[in-house]
Amino acid sequence: MAQANPLGTLAADVRAARAERGSSYTLRRQQLLGLRAMLIERAPEFEQALLADLAKNPVESEITEIGFVLAEIEHALRHLKKWMRPRRVRIPLSLAPATARTVSDPLGAVLIISPWNYPLQLSLAPLVGALAAGNAVVLKPSEISPATSAAMALFIPQYLDADLVRVVEGGPAETTTLLDQQWDYIFYTGNEHVARIIAAAAAKHLTPTTLELGGKSPTFVDASSNLNHVAKRLAWTKFVNAGQTCVAPDYVLVTPDAHDGLVAALRDAVTDLFGSDPRSSADYGRIVSANHVTRLSAVMPKKGLAFGGQIDQKTKYIAPTLATGVVGSDPIMRDEIFGPILPILTVANADEAIAFVNARPKPLALYVYSANKSVRRAFETQTSSGALDVNVGLAHMSVPGLPFGGVGTSGHGAYHGKRSFDTFSHEKAILSKPLAPDTLTLIYPPYTAQKQRLARTLLRRLSR
Ligand code: NAD
Repeated sequence: MAQANPLGTLAADVRAARAERGSSYTLRRQQLLGLRAMLIERAPEFEQALLADLAKNPVESEITEIGFVLAEIEHALRHLKKWMRPRRVRIPLSLAPATARTVSDPLGAVLIISPWNYPLQLSLAPLVGALAAGNAVVLKPSEISPATSAAMALFIPQYLDADLVRVVEGGPAETTTLLDQQWDYIFYTGNEHVARIIAAAAAKHLTPTTLELGGKSPTFVDASSNLNHVAKRLAWTKFVNAGQTCVAPDYVLVTPDAHDGLVAALRDAVTDLFGSDPRSSADYGRIVSANHVTRLSAVMPKKGLAFGGQIDQKTKYIAPTLATGVVGSDPIMRDEIFGPILPILTVANADEAIAFVNARPKPLALYVYSANKSVRRAFETQTSSGALDVNVGLAHMSVPGLPFGGVGTSGHGAYHGKRSFDTFSHEKAILSKPLAPDTLTLIYPPYTAQKQRLARTLLRRLSR
């Protein structure tokens, strides 16, 4: 007899567990405390896993993965009671007497599908929001970061309610089985191609989604800033995690008067960060898989390299690389790079940079390094991106009060902080009106000339 697929009923299983457990404040808090305990007690195991998957230095893992999620948990624990409180809403006088309020209901069974580049953060940060909002969750981490995926599959059931939160390891086949089922919400982080598969599967059940995608995030630099300071920030944000960051600066648009100074400062900044031979630095990561090394090798510019360019397929090493003299039609400018190659393009001024950005899909992030207020203002008002950082990069991610998400092909929906709680909640409208006195008689037929007069005068005024 054929064995039933144990993944085939997971949505119904976790939905049933949620119905049984309820979604009280106490339960939500317990789950968040469990997640916090797991991250603190199992930090060494998670650091090891991240080292195995991406050669991530443990300090980097602490900053960008473990510590990041712990901060999200603290924020949720601090505010959860307030977030869960019903919100009173004013009613129009025409409806008085009555009361109106909204309550945040859990959505039910949530599917979280995460990628490999920050495999812990991008699995657990959405999980914080889903649990704070009182949902049951199936988490499907990426098969391309197998050590971190295995560590989550091992520890999550030990620290969280194992019926309410399930981890499914695997790739497209397992994800497809999950996507065939009816979910109350799907939260996907990853590339645009798979996002279309997810969106199509969700549409079949009319399931709402958040799609956290990527794209080419531009950086503009002019000569008005201290280029050494700019280069230090730019180099770290580009080369952290060997460039495999969704909001990494993908390319730089620089004005001619800043070009040479920026290139020299970037060379110094990379040496400061990773020494003269980044290959031997324990602080510099590796490309996640041989396939991605091959993909990056194919777009590595052949000329104009100011530094870097070395590739070692065997150790999955690609040097921090700066490519100058790049133009918009070069292969490196076609798709999101998602690796440690930083192309530099020269633009006449900020207006030309803005036109360049606006001629392409809306990016997940846009970075502007300029001391000139009108330049910064021009980028703010004349471009559209998921986020805009001024004189810094990536930093918007770590502000729980700022929504994190894309626009256009860089994604839709957002999370972090309260926005995560809202993402995984349904804001239910509740209206309550006593039966007597019946103030609604005006709206009932028969409609007389007097009622028409009243509707035109009184009701219009009272409805405001
Ligand atoms: P990935 O290959 O790990 O894929 C992401 C998830 O999709 C995985 O869980 C994988 O198993 C699943 N998947 C793959 N193929 C599938 C299929 N055919 N059907 C169903 N599921 C499938 O990760 P990736 O896509 O290479 O991640 C990198 C991309 O994600 C980049 O474009 C990056 O910019 C983007 N990203 C965005 C964010 C963000 O927060 N906006 C964060 C990180 C990465």
